[in-house]
Amino acid sequence: MKLYSCHACGGAMEWNGESGGLKCGNCGSTVSVGSTVSDGCHPYEDPRSLPGLRSFEETVIRCPGCGAEIRADGKTVSMSCPYCGAGLVFDGRQLQSGKPDAVAPLMISGEKVRQLVKEWSGSHMFAPDLTSKYLEVKFISPQYIPFWVFSAHAETQYDGYAGKARPKGRISWHPVRGSRSDDLENTGVPGDRNIKEDYAGFLFDSTSPEKLTAWRPEYFAGSYSFLPTVSPEDAEAKAKKAMKSEIMSRLEDELRSRRGYNRFSYKSFEVTYSNKAWRLELIPGYFVICRYGGRIYVQAVNGVTGEVYGTYPVSIGKVTIACVCGAAALLLCLLLLDWSGGRLVTEAAGGYSVDWNRVWSGVMFSGAIAAAAWLVTFIRIRLPARGKDDLKNDKWLREIMGKINPSPAGRFPKFIPGIAPFPGAGLSAAGLRPAVYSAA
Ligand SMILES: [Zn+2]
Ligand SMILES: [Zn+2]
Repeated sequence: MKLYSCHACGGAMEWNGESGGLKCGNCGSTVSVGSTVSDGCHPYEDPRSLPGLRSFEETVIRCPGCGAEIRADGKTVSMSCPYCGAGLVFDGRQLQSGKPDAVAPLMISGEKVRQLVKEWSGSHMFAPDLTSKYLEVKFISPQYIPFWVFSAHAETQYDGYAGKARPKGRISWHPVRGSRSDDLENTGVPGDRNIKEDYAGFLFDSTSPEKLTAWRPEYFAGSYSFLPTVSPEDAEAKAKKAMKSEIMSRLEDELRSRRGYNRFSYKSFEVTYSNKAWRLELIPGYFVICRYGGRIYVQAVNGVTGEVYGTYPVSIGKVTIACVCGAAALLLCLLLLDWSGGRLVTEAAGGYSVDWNRVWSGVMFSGAIAAAAWLVTFIRIRLPARGKDDLKNDKWLREIMGKINPSPAGRFPKFIPGIAPFPGAGLSAAGLRPAVYSAA
């Protein structure tokens, strides 16, 4: 186990992406760390040549920074001391279980993440005014996520039909049959089953492979990382599925652009893979839990690029106003159309008569459209937010938070607003510690 301490003052040092080295959380002095190119990948044809999953005994260690006893479970590779914030790296575990082939070092600081999440939350069309009401960042944790990354050459035989939609809903089908070859690179499958797939997919897709470099233990100082919990065999099966649908969409794109087909149906679609290779990559991300108006919102922030993904608050007032305005505009269009077509106002004896039935059906129609739009917005954007402090139903969040601050007897820690939880606050770089909750 390693603790990187400062030569000048003895304080704990953490990886700092901006300076490209370690930085002392106490006095701010930095030590640069060289970077090397990624170790590459491992070719294989036989799934048995894939590495197995490892885990170690749960250990109780004494923090070299403050002397406190800390529990580290068998999958932990790096963590922060919950008392003094010192970054502890179990580099031996990582080396014994199979050193990752490539790492994208963390570039964004915890303080920057707070700001990014607030800006992102406020940037949406229906976002509430975040200057008047405070968006509280309740929990923030930098974490390296393992990904099994596959590449392969694929030979595909396909047989089926491609169709063009004709007027009146008819489709004219034509047989398509052939073979094609594709090279598929960088199909990533999350190696940690606790992380929700869309959040993990976002982190992987938004990190360009150029950011990857060879593994060094210093990168993990101050972040959390865990050994993979998804076996490479399971990951390979998932990767093959993803590669197959990639091939299918490449083929369909070609058929669409060349011959205008837009419907596809296959009798057979056989893919044979060769030149298979894999590597284990670690990609940094922050998991952030915010509270706004009694609800919980969860974001992942790419630790390399600062891009944000997740749920965000929506102002129901703004959505309602937009829907009412939309309905009014729609009604106006309908009435104008009817009026110019001579259906709304007709000449009658001694003046004009308005067809109130048409007006009424216009009101009903635009009202229904507005209500549907309101409901769709509510379901799509507002509902994914969690209810008041209710994280119990979110297994993946519970796992992430539980690992980072294990609570006694498996009870889930509850938020206690406004309490700074850990003694020694300020010793490590601000914002890098798990924040503001304690075991209830
Ligand atoms: Zn120092
Ligand atoms: Zn400590």
